Amino acid sequence: MSYFVPEVLAPAGSLDKLKVAILYGADAVYVGGQKFGLRTAAENFTLEELKEGVNFAHERNAKVYVVLNSFLHDKDLDELPDFVRYLEEIKIDAVIVSDLGVVKTVAEHTKLHIHISTQASVLNVESAKLWKKMGATRVIVGRELSVKESGIIKREAGLEVEMFIHGSMCMAYSGNCVISNFTQGRDSNRGGCAHSCRFEYSIDFGLKDKESIKAYFMSSKDLEGIRVLPEFIKEEIDSIKIEGRMKSNLYAGTMSKTYKEALDYYRDNGDFLSEKMLMWESELGKVSHRDYTEASLVDKAGDSSIYNERENSNDNEWKSIGHVVEASDKAGIIIEVRNAFNQGDELEIIPFKGEILKITANEIMSMMMNPITRTKPSTLVKLPYHRGAERFNLVRAKGSK
Ligand code: SF4
Repeated sequence: MSYFVPEVLAPAGSLDKLKVAILYGADAVYVGGQKFGLRTAAENFTLEELKEGVNFAHERNAKVYVVLNSFLHDKDLDELPDFVRYLEEIKIDAVIVSDLGVVKTVAEHTKLHIHISTQASVLNVESAKLWKKMGATRVIVGRELSVKESGIIKREAGLEVEMFIHGSMCMAYSGNCVISNFTQGRDSNRGGCAHSCRFEYSIDFGLKDKESIKAYFMSSKDLEGIRVLPEFIKEEIDSIKIEGRMKSNLYAGTMSKTYKEALDYYRDNGDFLSEKMLMWESELGKVSHRDYTEASLVDKAGDSSIYNERENSNDNEWKSIGHVVEASDKAGIIIEVRNAFNQGDELEIIPFKGEILKITANEIMSMMMNPITRTKPSTLVKLPYHRGAERFNLVRAKGSK
């Protein structure tokens, strides 16, 4: 029996992350140019990097979508035709759009595929049909929808459907939010979100006998939908999207590999073994994250999806310590160090496919073959060879300080 398998769509905040995500199994990546997207703080791609990224992806049968999902003012539209013509010339696979003016401009000047951003809050069949009439080939539905509801939209509106399956969540209605504008003077609908929903707020009831309360009541837990994958497959959702263009290479690689392997396993076996599921969940738990929730993927999200805790960016158990630049019997494993690690640390090399390689860094050498007890960032170090390690594999360490 053959199963429908959704595309794994990974975030790529830089050319490096694009390559990492694709090498680790992503079928497609979404990237931002220097303008018109909603992540002004991400590194974003220059015109040359976009071209290089598309070539890299197409050589490996992967796709590249460019995010143009900012809500634009008239003066912002002036430069858009030239930009979208350039995207068509370099053979971008689709653009992700939310503003009607941008949809019209793209359709007038190019034949690019148009994907409607989650910012447009598509929640029903009629809305999807209207976008289709305007030239859209795919809708990225609002995060308030369940997989079942999204399947109905796909069947009845007759266009592709993409859904978020993993990553940080926006507590506002698919991101149409003004908290950031009022608290920080930064417009989240034009790329300036300051994550103001993550702050602690107090509620003053204005009553003598009732004290004000302080809480992080607007902060959402992070989405994790791996256990809902059979539902995505059953409803034939075309693309599962991982949030996080501003997150690390380690995040892009781990997410792409885990979701791709889970889908491949299902395609080959028609089920998920519980021990495999525990292993994939453990992988997803190794990157920095808030507590996980399935949000509205199955039932409507309730209070249990609120993350009522202070943000802590150092809560991840495993840190990226670099990547493999060479691996062979003769050369050993040469690592370009990103974050320092020590002799005796437990390391994990993440192969592009298959089981994680676990090694203890008992013997670390410099390139001049001098023993090292503590590595330094931005240097090359050598470890004994371990079968299965390959060039560009990511390396992580537990509790490295
Ligand atoms: S402040 Fe929070 S709710 Fe508002 S856009 Fe940013 S992440 Fe979303």
